[in-house]
Amino acid sequence: MDARPGRVHRGGMDPVPPPDPPVDPARSRMMAAVRGKDTRPEMLVRRRLHAAGLRFRLHRRDLPGRPDLVLTRHRTVVLVHGCFWHGHACRGGRLPRTRTAWWAAKIERNRARDHAVRASLAGLGWRVVEVWECGLRDPALVDALPALVRGADPAAFGLGQGSIVTVNDPIPSQLPTSCQISMPE
Ligand SMILES: [Zn+2]
Repeated sequence: MDARPGRVHRGGMDPVPPPDPPVDPARSRMMAAVRGKDTRPEMLVRRRLHAAGLRFRLHRRDLPGRPDLVLTRHRTVVLVHGCFWHGHACRGGRLPRTRTAWWAAKIERNRARDHAVRASLAGLGWRVVEVWECGLRDPALVDALPALVRGADPAAFGLGQGSIVTVNDPIPSQLPTSCQISMPE
């Protein structure tokens, strides 16, 4: 059976507290809410994929970046990105007015990490479906998720590349299946 419940992962906080924490209590609360792993957007994605009969594991530790959802059969991972923490170019990704430079540096580090994780996963032969939190407000994206996991092109659903969802195809292995070197006569 493939229906065992996923592990619930807690945490997601930096091991070292930020040296210069935010001071706006409302924003602090908001960001604490989106910082957890079992976020509302992620639950939405899980429900949609599960309803489509797709099975997945959560936060596999043996893969780069501990991806949010791992669909082993389809060699696909789904990353659900909060717009603020992952620096999306949308309203939700706007930097706070206070301590802007500190936040900009922090978010930039997150973006760099995302980039590295994406590249590592693709290099290991995984398709990476990156879904942005704001995009999940579009029912068309939510409906398209099962197809995207199975390798469909977002453009086929009118979703466009690089906005609310991005599909990174796996990088084919560089190892040749057979090594035939033509020798000179
Ligand atoms: Zn966004």
